[in-house]
Amino acid sequence: MKPLLLHFYVTYRCNARCEFCDIPDTCDIPVYHELSLDQAAKIVKDVRDLGVKFADFTGGEPLLYAHLPTLLKISRGLGLYTSVTTNCIKYPDLAEKIKGAVTYLHFSLDSMDREVHDGIRGVNCYDRVMESIEIAKSLGEKPDIMFTVNEGNLSSIVDLVKFAQDEKLMLLINPEFDYSQNRGFQREFWNYLRSYSKKPYVYLNYAFERLHRKGGNRIDAPRCKVFDSTIVINPKGELILPCYHRQMDTIPIESDLKAVYQSEEVQQWRHRQGRFLFCEGCHINCYFDPSFCYNWDAYTLLSLAAKAKYVFDKHIRFK
Ligand code: SF4
Ligand code: SF4
Repeated sequence: MKPLLLHFYVTYRCNARCEFCDIPDTCDIPVYHELSLDQAAKIVKDVRDLGVKFADFTGGEPLLYAHLPTLLKISRGLGLYTSVTTNCIKYPDLAEKIKGAVTYLHFSLDSMDREVHDGIRGVNCYDRVMESIEIAKSLGEKPDIMFTVNEGNLSSIVDLVKFAQDEKLMLLINPEFDYSQNRGFQREFWNYLRSYSKKPYVYLNYAFERLHRKGGNRIDAPRCKVFDSTIVINPKGELILPCYHRQMDTIPIESDLKAVYQSEEVQQWRHRQGRFLFCEGCHINCYFDPSFCYNWDAYTLLSLAAKAKYVFDKHIRFK
């Protein structure tokens, strides 16, 4: 099967300091090493030619990447579905420029309590999120609310579900990663979230819940298909191996991503996907979500069921 997803880290810079994230303080690619528009557009075209259907522009805060609006339009012109998750600090300034170019626009909101949200995000941005929602809706966009859940804000789901339903926006439950110094998302949290995940306007990938409850990836029978499913690129335009959160190496792409991706070196990495020692118990959802589309099993069916609910709630429920 061809790769499905591009995770394009267009910048590692960020204007927030979320308590669960070490990207802006530990990743050291300065702005002057970020890609030109031509370089970034070439990568997008090459991954499209390799079969990729979804381009996720991430970071850092992706709206800080100067060429993002044009890159999004180029990507849509190539027939790719695009996604951007933003902390909303810059969205009000860029909303007109990216209007209609983001298929899946995600606004991070971790609580309806301003202090809780701003405390988690490390900057005062709650009001920018609220402003962004209003602007996006006025432009005809349908942003999703990305709720990153941890121990400190678990109960925020009650008010967030009500808000999402009132606004007729999807609430995406995004369990916090535990790759850095944080405590991460604990398995017992599912018992609390479960009753909410079935409600209208709430999305949870049920396959991911199952994987996490069962202890995550197993290196003797890996469910991670990171190389089959996903191409991960850093702000310098290098291929990240094997995944962003556990990167062990990078390969400069220079002029030909297709040749690099199909090289013997990358094929060797592919044979080890999900089998490294650090892969035991892994449940980094941004890699498992596309991985569930490879190798049909119960995870595939659960993931499809969750996506069907997303489509129904977002596009059909109240039409
Ligand atoms: S907004 Fe995103 S990149 Fe920035 S600190 Fe928070 S999680 Fe990390
Ligand atoms: S199992 Fe996790 S750590 Fe290992 S390659 Fe996959 S996503 Fe990366």
